[in-house]
Amino acid sequence: MSELFKPSAPQAALIDPFGRHVTYLRVSVTDRCDFRCSYCMSEHMTFLPKKDLLSLEELDRVCSAFVAKGVRKLRITGGEPLMRKNILWLFRALSRHLGSGALDEVTLTTNGSQLTKYAQELKDAGVRRINISLDTLEPGRFKAITRWGDLGQVMAGIDAADKAGLEIKLNAVALKGFNEDEFDALIAFAHGRGFDLTLIETMPMGDIDGDRTDQYLPLSIVRARLMDRFTLEDIPFRTGGPARYVRVRETGGRLGFITPMTHNFCESCNRVRLTCTGTLYMCLGQDDAADLRAPLRTSSDDTLLARAIDEAISRKPKGHDFIIDRRTKQPAVARHMSVTGG
Ligand code: SAM
Ligand code: SF4
Repeated sequence: MSELFKPSAPQAALIDPFGRHVTYLRVSVTDRCDFRCSYCMSEHMTFLPKKDLLSLEELDRVCSAFVAKGVRKLRITGGEPLMRKNILWLFRALSRHLGSGALDEVTLTTNGSQLTKYAQELKDAGVRRINISLDTLEPGRFKAITRWGDLGQVMAGIDAADKAGLEIKLNAVALKGFNEDEFDALIAFAHGRGFDLTLIETMPMGDIDGDRTDQYLPLSIVRARLMDRFTLEDIPFRTGGPARYVRVRETGGRLGFITPMTHNFCESCNRVRLTCTGTLYMCLGQDDAADLRAPLRTSSDDTLLARAIDEAISRKPKGHDFIIDRRTKQPAVARHMSVTGG
């Protein structure tokens, strides 16, 4: 591998037109995946040509340019990030910013399928916390929702991550008529193992094979139903993301709600998202984007890249316009979640 890019001296912070500080970069390192979750992708997805992808060194360089501009947290996501060849190289490279104190954390969102292989190496590379997606605890349902996934393999991955000492948060997308009878079981499982659990509303991103109105389950309803059986105490806990947390008094564990649909959290947004081809999306729910690959490849000096990042942040929109109803058949944005990362 070539010599790592050394960021220049810290530059002016990234502040958008609405006064929000951008301190969090999510990086989708591949759009490919070994699963085909029905709310995320169609079964026969067309993936980006491999030649368009940024190399791992280029991803490191863009991340480092953001770190030089005050980004404190990086999340590596996808597609399935652990399917990208040699991905541990990127984690090890980025860990130098943890060592220098420029970054607070490097985290990962994964479907868990490769964790038996990589959990210990991730821990050794400085990763402390990971998010693992788990929508159901029933093998048949798991197969149905992920199409190609295997629950046993993911459970083994969760065990491996736990054993390696990684702090685990489980993410479950709330799906009407699919897992709405399983939230108690997911809470019991997560909190019984000492993991946080976050429930997520489905977002209208990219064409899928079915109709999203059939899947959409507002978390306001889920929360009200949970309150029949549990005492949910609001707590100020935050992980830097959009989840709002409660403590479930009966289990002592934390439960998060990510509610882009029923409660828009854009006013406190501190995030931007980089795709594996070097496109920067300033909002998950808007199409406006900036190309960082051209300035990255035009010169080995980072002046153009830094300027392109500043220009992009000066266009960060106020928020998204997600709606899911019977009249709105088109997704709010055409790209799939696997392109921009969750
Ligand atoms: N493959 C990894 C995984 O599944 O965790 C990382 C990428 S995945 C796109 C990130 C998160 O986005 C997952 O928790 C997934 O459940 C969620 N997700 C995917 N499509 C979604 C959608 N349309 N609405 C809400 N969440 C979605
Ligand atoms: Fe793959 Fe994650 Fe999308 Fe499921 S949610 S298809 S695991 S990228």
